[in-house]
Amino acid sequence: RAPAMATTIVQPHPAASAARATPAIEVVNLHKSFGQLEVLSGVGLSASAGEVVSMIGSSGSGKSTFLRCINLLEQPNDGRIIVDGEEIRMKKASDGKAQPADMRQVERIRARVGMVFQSFNLWPHLTVLENIIEAPVHVLKERRADAVERAHELLRKVGLSDKHAHYPGQLSGGQQQRAAIARTLAMQPKVILLDEPTSALDPELVGEVLRVIRQLAEEGNTMILVTHEMQFAREVSHKILFLHRGKVEEEGAPAELFANPRSERLRQFLARTL
Ligand code: ADP
Ligand code: MG
Repeated sequence: RAPAMATTIVQPHPAASAARATPAIEVVNLHKSFGQLEVLSGVGLSASAGEVVSMIGSSGSGKSTFLRCINLLEQPNDGRIIVDGEEIRMKKASDGKAQPADMRQVERIRARVGMVFQSFNLWPHLTVLENIIEAPVHVLKERRADAVERAHELLRKVGLSDKHAHYPGQLSGGQQQRAAIARTLAMQPKVILLDEPTSALDPELVGEVLRVIRQLAEEGNTMILVTHEMQFAREVSHKILFLHRGKVEEEGAPAELFANPRSERLRQFLARTL
């Protein structure tokens, strides 16, 4: 169980309404199969700048696969992905499935989409600071001194100033996940994808990570959050999608969705998890 949290609802960031014309991210009709197994059967989602969209659903419903398709860690078989107004160009491969047409474009767009994993995925052989500056220096070609300065700012933001010279193995899970969030922010992503960012943590460490994510929401970061922390999702999200067997079974504003689930499947899911 997560520690008790403030119950303030995060208001849409002013940027959210101003930028409504161009979503920060839009996914249309995404399909993904692994062999014969169809995991995503036409999933769509759109988030304006500054919006937080959460995805809930049972284990195996396709949430991780959806996030991994968005930044092309998995190749979708069909559908459209548009990040900050730029659509990932797809082509038909010889087996008839779609695949990205231009890997340079994929790299460019991937650099604008941050990902926070359940298992942190920090480089074990690099210090926290080195983890944070790695991509800004090597991918964005930032000057090392600038990247270091910004890394210290980010470490202050996530409450890890004193840990910059530590290796991941010397940190608690909550500290590692906060360092991973700082690393993601260092790329100044247009969209941050978070895949069950607190699921691997001991219960007493969940709150410190949720506090950081809440702060990101309040600062107007666009985020797609997969989580089993229902109360938290309800508080920080502008919109919630309930995924069931690779389809969006139901979506809506959190208060409405939780208070009046329309589908029997969502009702059952909420009864099991709340
Ligand atoms: P969730 O994150 O909602 O728990 P996943 O997206 O991880 O669901 O998985 C959805 C389904 O896809 C599951 O049946 C899982 O076993 C399957 N799956 C995920 N990744 C792969 C893969 N690389 N190869 C084969 N099947 C996979
Ligand atoms: Mg998952």
